[in-house]
This record gives sequence, C-alpha cells and structure tokens, in this order.
Amino acid sequence: MKYDYLIVGAGLFGAVFACEAKKRGKSCLVVEKRNHIAGNIYCEEVNGIQVHRYGAHIFHTSDKRIWDYINQFAEFNNYINSPVARYKDELYNLPFNMNTFSKMWGIKTPQEAKEIIAAQIADLNITEPKNLEEQALSLVGRDVYEKLIKGYTEKQWGRDCKDLPSFIIKRLPLRFTYDNNYFNDRYQGIPIGGYTRIVEKMLADADEVLLGTDYLKDREKFDALADKVIYTGMIDEYFGYKLGVLQYRSVRFETEELETDNYQGNAVVNYTDRDVPYTRIIEHKHFEFGKQPTTIISREYSSEWKKGDEPYYPVNDDKNNALYEQYRKLADKQDKVCFGGRLGAYKYYDMDKVIAAALQMCREQL
Ligand code: FAD
Ligand code: UDP
Repeated sequence: MKYDYLIVGAGLFGAVFACEAKKRGKSCLVVEKRNHIAGNIYCEEVNGIQVHRYGAHIFHTSDKRIWDYINQFAEFNNYINSPVARYKDELYNLPFNMNTFSKMWGIKTPQEAKEIIAAQIADLNITEPKNLEEQALSLVGRDVYEKLIKGYTEKQWGRDCKDLPSFIIKRLPLRFTYDNNYFNDRYQGIPIGGYTRIVEKMLADADEVLLGTDYLKDREKFDALADKVIYTGMIDEYFGYKLGVLQYRSVRFETEELETDNYQGNAVVNYTDRDVPYTRIIEHKHFEFGKQPTTIISREYSSEWKKGDEPYYPVNDDKNNALYEQYRKLADKQDKVCFGGRLGAYKYYDMDKVIAAALQMCREQL
C-alpha cells in the first residue's frame, strides 16, 4: 500500500484528520471532487472581501479545547453575529430577546414579555413539544412564531413546521435580556484571512491532494492505494443508495457585487416572510468590518436536494434518521472505511462539532 490513509473530501473533517495523521507520521492521500479545498467553508477573496461561497460561516464554540485547536491555524476577529429579521416592512433583532419582544409588543420588561407569551400559549396545552411548531409556540408565543419562524422555516426546509423536529429551533437562543448575540457560546469570531487558509494549513503536509477527483468514480483504484479510508461524502451515495435515498436541503447562492459601500448595514438579514423567495441576504464585508468602496451580497434560495445538487443540510426527521441508522449499521461492518463529517454522519453539525468528531476519530484510529 502506498498510503496509510485515503481521505475522501477536503472539507473541515477530512483536513483535521489529515493534519493529525501527518503529525503522527502517517502518510495521506486526499481526494476532493470539487476543484478547490475546504468543502463548504471555502472562502474566496474578491476585491479585498472574503466571500463565503457556500453560505456564511461564523465560528462559535463553548469548548475551549476546540477554540485553542482552531486558533493554531488562524487569528480570529471579534465579530459577534447579530442577524436582523425582516418581516414585510418590519425589522426585528435576532435571536429572540428583549429587543425582539419590545419591538413586537411595545413593552419594556421581561415580566411583560413572559406574560404575553404565556397568554398566547395558555390554550394550546403543550406539555411536551412534539415538533418544531409546538416547540416554537411554547417558547415564544404565536406572534413571534407567525412573523419570524413559520415562513422562514418552511422556506428553509420545504416542509410544514409540524413535520420538522423540534431540535432545529432549539439551535437559537431565547433570552429575556437585551442581548442580540445569536450564539450563547463563550468563543466566537471570523478567521482573519478566511477559512480557506485554515484548511490550506491543515493540508500543508498531506502527501498528495487531488482536486476535481471523485473517489466513487474510481473506487477500486483508490482503495488499492491505502490501508484505510476516511470517507466524508454522503453515506447513502457510498452504498449506491441501496437502502433508499436520504433527504437533504440544497441552497442556491445568487451572488453579486454592488456599487455601494454598505447595502444592508448588517452581515445577515433574514427574510422571514413566506412571499420573499430567498431566506436571507449575506453582506460578506460586514463579517470583517470591511471598508471597501463596493460590496458583495449573496441571496440564499433553499431547495430540496436531488442527485447532482450540492447537499447542504441533512433533514434529520424520524424517517431519515431511521434510514441513516440502517446505513450506519452497514458502515459499521466496513473494516477498511470510517465515515465522518456532516455528510458521512448525516448530522446537522456546526464546525466546532465537526472538529470535535474528527479529533475523536483520530484518537480512535491513530
Ligand atoms: P463538507 O464541507 O461538506 O466537506 C465534504 C467534502 O467531501 C466536500 O468538499 C465534497 O465535495 C467532498 N466529497 C464528497 N463526496 C466526494 C467524493 N465521492 N469524492 C471526493 N470528494 C467528495 N457551521 C458553523 O459552525 N457556523 C456557521 O455559521 C455555519 N454556517 C453554515 C451555513 C451553511 C449554508 C451550511 C450548509 C453549513 C454551515 N455550517 C456552519 C456547517 C459547516 O459548513 C459544516 O459543519 C462543515 O463545513 C462540515 O465539514 P465536512 O468536512 O463535514 O463537510
Ligand atoms: N429560524 C427561523 N427564523 C429565523 C432564523 C432561523 O425560524 O429568522 C429557524 C429555522 O428553522 C432555521 C433554524 O431556526 O432552520 C436554525 O437557524 P440557524 O440560523 O441556526 O440556521 P443555519 O445557519 O444552520 O442555516
């Protein structure tokens, strides 16, 4: 065998694994079907602005070990994510906090906000929320649900809120303080110089990185080159979809440069109204407090994934999770292959969780 490890996918998971394997003296071949490294955290500099080509990425974690790990590869700025939600002509702060409630109801105190929410859900009798709609209603009441959650969620997931798992909405903090920080995590920021440079550093010592190379198109040839395979592509595709097709959401990014220095005054504006076809507009320069004379924005249009599209979000409802479990059992029987990352583990993982999972796999493997 020429290599100890064949790593399929040059995204964050594959890059962390390759980096750690090299530190322990293992040889690695990395194959990536796109023509660039970094997977979905890929950024490209355009006129001095780091453009997040596959959607905005804000690094956040509560795990000091992961924060220290990623800081080996980049210095982070002090960006704090505070999206604004636009519902028709009304603007609200996110996540759901006293600024949101005060604007919604003209109130001032946490007590008043809690009383309004309690009154709005009193007759619903939700004791244990069974789906996203019940979870959202029981947390923030009907007004916030109708204006800021229902339309956005149904555009984002292409499903009724009653058919979605409640954990999706629990990603967002709910606070009765005037605090617009989108995350509760202790550490947060954007890497100065962009994410691609981080992955470049992680892969710097890899023996070979082949871009524009689809492992599944030449599986036998690649398998013959390495003792073990770390696979970070779609798990169902690996098995030729033989148990069925897992569902994903895809996103189309419509990106343009505008002749203004400041288009929307914030990095992230969510369009929560069902009638606007996109979910959010990202203005990339604001992640880095950019002062360039022009600006670059991306509108995000969400769609159901079909073969040939990029898979972005696993749809972790009961039906898909059950199918994934069957694939996982098949995966466990493969001696030579380990599955990881957002697609290999079919999990709605943030970057910090992907790094933690990759480091865990390193501990088991290396
Ligand atoms: P990927 O980045 O998908 O990498 C997998 C790689 O494998 C890809 O490059 C793919 O081309 C390659 N591949 C697949 N199949 C093959 C094959 N057969 N042969 C060769 N190569 C193959 N996380 C955060 O922490 N903060 C955020 O703000 C945030 N925002 C996000 C916004 C969007 C729109 C999306 C979609 C995700 C966001 N995430 C965010 C999550 C983050 O993108 C992921 O946690 C992380 O990028 C996953 O890394 P990965 O290596 O598992 O997967
Ligand atoms: N969400 C919402 N309204 C918003 C923003 C988010 O209802 O303005 C819901 C939506 O269901 C979304 C989930 O919260 O899928 C998680 O949001 P997050 O911003 O974490 O999504 P991501 O950045 O992963 O797309």
